[in-house]
Amino acid sequence: MSGVHEECGVVGIYAPQGEDIVRFLYYGLLSLQHRGQEACGIAVTDTGRDELDVNCIKDLGLVSEVFSKETLAALNGNLGIGHVRYSTTGESVRENTQPLVLNYCKGKLSLAHNGNIVNTDELREELIRTGAIFHTTMDSELIAFHIAKNRVHSKSVEEAVYKTAKKLKGAYGLVIMSPKKLIAVRDPFGIRPLCLGRRGKTYIVASESCALNSMGAEFIRDIEPGEIVTITEEGITSNYKLKQETKAHCVFEYIYFARLDSVIDGIKVYDARIKAGELLYKRHPVDADIVTGVPESGIAAAKGFAKASGIPFDLAFHKNSYIGRTFIKPSQSERSIGVQMKLSVLEEVVKDKRVVLVDDSIVRGTTMENLVKMLKKAGAKEVHIRISSPPFMYPCYYGVDVPSNKELIATRKSAEKINETIGGDTLEYLSVEDLQETAKGLMICTACFTGEYKAGQKSNDNEG
Ligand code: 5GP
Ligand code: MG
Repeated sequence: MSGVHEECGVVGIYAPQGEDIVRFLYYGLLSLQHRGQEACGIAVTDTGRDELDVNCIKDLGLVSEVFSKETLAALNGNLGIGHVRYSTTGESVRENTQPLVLNYCKGKLSLAHNGNIVNTDELREELIRTGAIFHTTMDSELIAFHIAKNRVHSKSVEEAVYKTAKKLKGAYGLVIMSPKKLIAVRDPFGIRPLCLGRRGKTYIVASESCALNSMGAEFIRDIEPGEIVTITEEGITSNYKLKQETKAHCVFEYIYFARLDSVIDGIKVYDARIKAGELLYKRHPVDADIVTGVPESGIAAAKGFAKASGIPFDLAFHKNSYIGRTFIKPSQSERSIGVQMKLSVLEEVVKDKRVVLVDDSIVRGTTMENLVKMLKKAGAKEVHIRISSPPFMYPCYYGVDVPSNKELIATRKSAEKINETIGGDTLEYLSVEDLQETAKGLMICTACFTGEYKAGQKSNDNEG
């Protein structure tokens, strides 16, 4: 059975003055919806009350489906966390939704996690050794249980979090809520993004800066790789003991995953994508009449390609934005239909034209194969495919949803063969070196293109 690989988004808010923050959590989750469309949830508490309790609502579905006016009205508090979740496997069950809320020696502990832990076997074995009766294979749950266990012998919850984080291998952006604290942790490699913001006296942590904008909050800074931030009534403190030299920021955030208006680790996602398009033209020029991008994530790179080449940019597709990402459809035939339902060609734009078609990535090849067919059917004379990332060849163990390399077309076929399959006139990819240039001096993780897993690898590929 293949495991759960997920892409997620997290948000945490603490208003020490006592302001109700539930609607801000909701806005934050709405703007992180692109990071996960399978499930979502909010857990809140009111630190002003004598009897501290946590209210949690979570379910399968989009943020707008799970939370109605009524459900939101039923939640209130000044400290809370939220989560959006995505998973590719069939295990999209309610039990896997987050935030997780569990009882521990100090009351209730809530946790939301973005990323994937690779040493889950080790973590589970340690819990079993210490006498815990344990069934879960879910990495986030293992983290929560370790924190709860460590809390017993620690002087604070942040110390228990630190002791736990020391043992984790892999990717984690965590927001944790103890009865009166908000804690945020970013793994020492900085694989997944996490940033800090403020709205008046209210502190916010979120996967991406776009979430801060949505609440009218100001961006303070990125949480540093290996930093543990603790926010209490007294203010904000940091523990940097996990920091290390080597970083491995997920470059796929810039290529595809993050929202176009986010800024991660000092680099604007928009700039990185424009740059990728410019470099694509520089390395792989072509004569054509128009440049177009696959909505939404291919558009900025297409603009970059158009800018560098002088070939006019045009919109060749209309996107129906009311349909989820095609990846969600489980079977291959449903996936193809998904592409056609989501995108339709503007015939007048492409008829008799030589078209440059830019997308951020080819994973299984479904999207490209369908789009090339659609373009040719609409009368395009030539279709030159330019991909703003290198061939996607290796699975990600750090939270991107590609389940196994069997499904990755580039592990089975050369670029030439892929081009034959998808029916393009030419097909060119961005190189790993050029990709590094889009991320400037940042130390990036390129494991999905190179197979170099800087932050550790799962010993057993069959487990999530
Ligand atoms: P393919 O159709 O080749 O399997 O997938 C390529 C398309 O999926 C591209 O248009 C790209 O924007 C999108 N894509 C790439 N990576 C991911 C991912 O990790 N998750 C989701 N949902 N879509 C992705
Ligand atoms: Mg796409």
